[in-house]
Amino acid sequence: MTLGPCRRGLLMLLLALGLTLGDPEEPSQGPQVTCTCKNPHCRGPTCQGSWCTVVLVQEQGSHPQEYWGCGNKHQELCKGRPTEFVNHYCCYSSLCNHNVSLVLAATQTPPEQTPGYGQRRLILGSMLAFLAVMALGALGLWHIRRRQEKQRGFHSDLGESSLILKPSEQGDSMLGDFLDSDCTTGSGSGLPFLVQRTVARQVALVECVGKGRYGEVWRGLWHGESVAVKIFSSRDEQSWFRETEIYNTVLLRHDNILGFIASDMTSRNSSTQLWLITHYHEHGSLYDFLQRQTLEPQLALKLAVSAACGLAHLHVEIFGTQGKPAIAHRDLKSRNVLVKSNLQCCIADLGLAVMHSQGSDYLDIGHNPRVGTKRYMAPEVLDEQIRTDCFESYKWTDIWAFGLVLWEIARRTVVNGIVEDYRPPFYDVVPNDPSFEDMKKVVCVDQQTPTIPIRLAADPVLSALAQMMRECWYPSPSARLTALRIKKTLQKLSHSPEKPKGIC
Ligand code: ADP
Ligand code: MG
Repeated sequence: MTLGPCRRGLLMLLLALGLTLGDPEEPSQGPQVTCTCKNPHCRGPTCQGSWCTVVLVQEQGSHPQEYWGCGNKHQELCKGRPTEFVNHYCCYSSLCNHNVSLVLAATQTPPEQTPGYGQRRLILGSMLAFLAVMALGALGLWHIRRRQEKQRGFHSDLGESSLILKPSEQGDSMLGDFLDSDCTTGSGSGLPFLVQRTVARQVALVECVGKGRYGEVWRGLWHGESVAVKIFSSRDEQSWFRETEIYNTVLLRHDNILGFIASDMTSRNSSTQLWLITHYHEHGSLYDFLQRQTLEPQLALKLAVSAACGLAHLHVEIFGTQGKPAIAHRDLKSRNVLVKSNLQCCIADLGLAVMHSQGSDYLDIGHNPRVGTKRYMAPEVLDEQIRTDCFESYKWTDIWAFGLVLWEIARRTVVNGIVEDYRPPFYDVVPNDPSFEDMKKVVCVDQQTPTIPIRLAADPVLSALAQMMRECWYPSPSARLTALRIKKTLQKLSHSPEKPKGIC
């Protein structure tokens, strides 16, 4: 395989424009192929997959590294995202990656040839790119004029962005969504939409770091820096829409909310791929962290106070141009809280979130058929008594779940030399993957709450934490603590000389 600088440049342009040319090698539904395998995970010189890959990764300050291997449909790795630092190559016939070197390709100029299929594709590509640039310019001008004519408020932004992002309203070229992208610029947490797309296409997936119920999370590299890429399965596209919509319309930059970088949708052979790119946190989720670590009370408090700061920021409505609507999470759990390298938490996964703006009394509950995690559901959700038209109700369910997260932290905290193994809430009274009915029996009928470890009483900070949990679990939702109260109480508790600076 050879890619000279010009071809590479043009390919980059086409990728940046979101155009993909049909790959003649790509089968619609191919059988497994044998590929050359040279990477740390190989079990032999070859592997079997849906396609063969060569991945070139250059971490900053080190030599480029090439990995040969197999890709499969489940991993969805074959995206062809060449950049200055990273490069992917995919092919679909037996051992087709054997003689491929992306390091060589990046430095070689192809010999002069009579125009072949590939060159015809590139000529066609250039023409398409030119037309696309013209169309972009015209539509961009039209859009700017339309924006000047119409000052939109919070709802119309949401309404429009959800229209723009629906794949059914896009052609396979995916050009449409970034033509209209500037409607999200300036009001959201991230980069302008076009830049998000370009960034997304410069990310190389390096390793799978987690699997959730709805997709996979990969560590990716963008210009030598690690980023997290959540790849949503098509059955959870509504979570991707929702999270993208919230990050793009709400200013959500906060130390204790997972930092958003970009969101991207690509369409290939009529299958849609949905990516959400965020900051990468190598400790993983609080759930992962608590499996590995026991905690000293000060660290437990630091995790709790930082998570509370994130939740309080979500819940509060801030008025003004730099403001934000109130947001309730609706799927708070230790797996959706990440631990940063400074050992502060940040809240992730806004796929189920609801928003409320007091001024207009507008409640946006999205269109996601997904429901929260049963184990963390509040009694009023389980007995279906929750007032779904009242925004406060959703905040109260978050507080119930937050109390359970505090309990998970507390169990792993060492007091007087005693600590317990990690367990999920209600581990002793419901089976793995409990049903709605299992949870309802325990939480609503028997009115059980998790047992608070007795040893917490021996530590002033942890006994306050224990009391806080009880106040998160009141059966009457409106009697529960607010996120702001939790945050303030925890901050007061951490007012000690070694209190970590910069929390909230
Ligand atoms: P679930 O849907 O099961 O709550 P997610 O799909 O959000 O979980 O994530 C699955 C796992 O991937 C997490 O438990 C965590 O280990 C890892 N993960 C998610 N986001 C990140 C990130 N930004 N940085 C590092 N690891 C992450
Ligand atoms: Mg999640």
